[in-house]
Amino acid sequence: MSNTTSPEFFEAREVPLGGVRGVQVDRVLPQRGLPTLGAWCFLDQFGPDVAEMVVLPHPHIGLQTVTWPLAGEIRHRDSVGSDAILRPGQLNLMTSGRGVSHSELSIGTGPLHALQLWVALPADAAAGPAGFEHHASLPRYQDNGIDALVFMGTLGDAESPATTYSPLVGAQLDVTEATLPLRPDFEYGLLVVDGIVQVAGVELKPGPLLYLGTGRDELTISGPARAVLLGGEPFGEDLVMWWNFVGRSHDEIMAAREDWEGGDPSRFGTVAGHGADRIPAPILPNLRLKPRKQPVR
Ligand code: MN
Repeated sequence: MSNTTSPEFFEAREVPLGGVRGVQVDRVLPQRGLPTLGAWCFLDQFGPDVAEMVVLPHPHIGLQTVTWPLAGEIRHRDSVGSDAILRPGQLNLMTSGRGVSHSELSIGTGPLHALQLWVALPADAAAGPAGFEHHASLPRYQDNGIDALVFMGTLGDAESPATTYSPLVGAQLDVTEATLPLRPDFEYGLLVVDGIVQVAGVELKPGPLLYLGTGRDELTISGPARAVLLGGEPFGEDLVMWWNFVGRSHDEIMAAREDWEGGDPSRFGTVAGHGADRIPAPILPNLRLKPRKQPVR
């Protein structure tokens, strides 16, 4: 294997999630030293012991939301008319295009453990229409010692049917010991959600993201564990991220904020079933938002 990056740990931080009944989540991405991983630009982990998730209608631009429950069920409703119940092993994928709004509420009284990820859209798709996909059945990558569900992109011979706009992968790995095929042009990261793994010469427990960089054509993982592998071609663009918006300039973010606060239904639509309940945008900071520069590695 040639010239691979040393693995780097990025610790998650606890953040309060907005809303009427806010909960604490573990924010894994973005990080100061890792604004994107491929086109993956955001990763929050709820649980494993959250009792309830109530995320009222709120807007997005410039991204896809990828909702991946590990335990519990989530009801998704959005401004393109979707109303979908999501269970473990299934994918909800919402593409914001120029503007969309949605709500996500846990169902039932059991514990909830879920990952909420965002994928940054390239500029042309970010100017496009909104859409929603529910994938109840996803392809598996299977080999000795591994059974993986590929929810986005491609791993080995398994390709997710979910719509993507840049080369990437997102897969849930149930692994005892296996060697995965990787793409040297992708950068990769690994998050353990249950168990402990030995990988790339280090031990990885639940919590931090292990950044594995580019240049690897395979990766040996020893568990037993459940982990999530994320990867993709380095995104290459410096993004402005603020609240629920991913854009390319301060002015673009400010216009989206004004459209949401002004209730512009031509941009963000309405989410049925919530009446006037919605999450207001925070006050903009008194400075010009700047792109997060990609670090030099
Ligand atoms: Mn959202």
